[in-house]
Amino acid sequence: MNASLSLRRVCIFCGASYGTRTAYRDVAQTFTRLLVESGIGIVYGGSSNGLMGIVADAALAAGGEVIGVLPRSMIDREIDHKGLTTMHLVDTLHERKAKMAELSDAFVALPGGFGTFEEFCEVLSWAQLGLHRKPCALLNVDGFYDGLLTFFDHSVTEGFVHPTGRALVLSESDPQTLLSRLFDYQPPTGDRWSASAVQV
Ligand code: AMP
Repeated sequence: MNASLSLRRVCIFCGASYGTRTAYRDVAQTFTRLLVESGIGIVYGGSSNGLMGIVADAALAAGGEVIGVLPRSMIDREIDHKGLTTMHLVDTLHERKAKMAELSDAFVALPGGFGTFEEFCEVLSWAQLGLHRKPCALLNVDGFYDGLLTFFDHSVTEGFVHPTGRALVLSESDPQTLLSRLFDYQPPTGDRWSASAVQV
């Protein structure tokens, strides 16, 4: 598989913890290797902790480009990865997300905690507003994101999320299938803001 021009780098959001299941580490390694084998660079939070460290180590071991984006104030807490291709040190969490988004052509959330959820929902909300047209995907290994997806559906039912906004969320449990969907992704056309605004 060859990387298309529009998928040069993928931003990975994931936990600063490992999680309880080995499946989480395994999928982090598998998905990262698939990206590298497809000629795609990795953008991530720059830490060596948890799944973030697993992603960086797997990509580097496979010979891939790994770009970290880490707030200076978090270097001690998050333990900056010392072996990255490039590390961008920024001043705030806001700058971190903006830089990660600027450098990436797609966003994928692996299992993680509130930081991961927040990062994913922010880029998803930007997509809903039409601020970017990049795919936003959940790698739903072992049903980790089933509860969140159910909640997204509930939010549609309750009239807070328009179906066109809900449709922006890609979700797959298999890394290869998810990667194929990123390659095949066709952003919605039209005025995203008016299309996704919930009508009362
Ligand atoms: P977690 O998913 O909670 O383990 O966090 C994963 C990563 O998200 C960590 O590197 C956190 O520093 C980062 N993070 C947490 N909150 C934010 C935020 N508001 N903006 C950007 N990154 C964040």
